[in-house]
Amino acid sequence: MSPKYSLIIPIYNEEETIAELYRRVRAVMDRLDGAVELILVNDGSRDRSLALMRGLHEQDGRVCYLSLARNFGHQVAVTAGLNFARGQVVVVLDADLQDPPELIPQLVEQWQLGFDVVYAQRIQRKREGWFKRFTAYVFYRVLQRLADVDIPTDTGDFCLMDRQVVDVLNAIPERNRYIRGLRSWIGFRQTAVLFERDPRFAGEVKYTFRKSFGLAVNGLVSFSTVPLRLSTYLGLFAACAAVVMAFMVIYWRLFFPGSPLTGYAIIAAAVFFLGAVQLFSIGILGEYIGRIYDEVKNRPLYTLAEAAGFTEFPTPRSPRTPPEQLRRSLDR
Ligand code: UDP
Ligand code: MG
Repeated sequence: MSPKYSLIIPIYNEEETIAELYRRVRAVMDRLDGAVELILVNDGSRDRSLALMRGLHEQDGRVCYLSLARNFGHQVAVTAGLNFARGQVVVVLDADLQDPPELIPQLVEQWQLGFDVVYAQRIQRKREGWFKRFTAYVFYRVLQRLADVDIPTDTGDFCLMDRQVVDVLNAIPERNRYIRGLRSWIGFRQTAVLFERDPRFAGEVKYTFRKSFGLAVNGLVSFSTVPLRLSTYLGLFAACAAVVMAFMVIYWRLFFPGSPLTGYAIIAAAVFFLGAVQLFSIGILGEYIGRIYDEVKNRPLYTLAEAAGFTEFPTPRSPRTPPEQLRRSLDR
């Protein structure tokens, strides 16, 4: 029999938070009105996270875990969890307790009212650096202007999804996964529940600036082709500027012989400007082409090293057959 609720938590070097996370999540699990499975996804942690996850699985049969063969990134870890979740209702949250598990009953309430996607929207980020808050603020608003779908601002991956939605998400073959965008793209009835984002419980932020920047570029490129048009606009602008310059030069030649604007400096500036525009455009083009290349290669999204607690193994995305220990855990 499949559980009613699946909770998915991606974990990357979170040994300091796991015990507290489990304590708080378990309190919520006990309150929910149906069977719950807690899916912990180890995203190639290098600390004791996996050992702790194994321990929780031994101690509580509702805890299942997946262990990816290396660090594949948050979005892929969540995707792996979604592939394996069996619940009627699936909830995704972060391991660092920035997404309070106690909000889950409120998300469930909205689901009971008939919503298929209930996303948690932050009204405040407590004690996150000004730089992170500022960049997040700007990014979400730029994305909303440029994206083809309406991606709500200030929402992360903390959400509840109905089985129907998860099935659609799982069927999307796209490899550059920007889950919060795909979730909006899918449609269905969606609603928000507002919450205050707590500070991280312990440990370092696992989303380095580089990873956050990568995620942001991915979101933009996956959901908008406007940046491609930018080079067209820049090209048009440069062309207009050139025509204006030509007329100005003719005008100066005729009426102001010896004008200061005809020296090397202006030529150098023009060359640099055009060089910059061209490199910038090629860079944007590259972002799209690189993603096309990624999609075409069609590698599996992740490789799985270990899994436990899943009595039935869904279509493995891993290229090789499940290893012995995996089969053993499946027989249980
Ligand atoms: N995470 C992950 N793989 C990564 C980076 C992060 O699975 O490569 C997990 C991490 O363990 C946490 C969640 O993703 O559960 C969010 O990470 P973090 O709190 O560092 O980022 P934030 O969203 O708060 O900036
Ligand atoms: Mg966090």
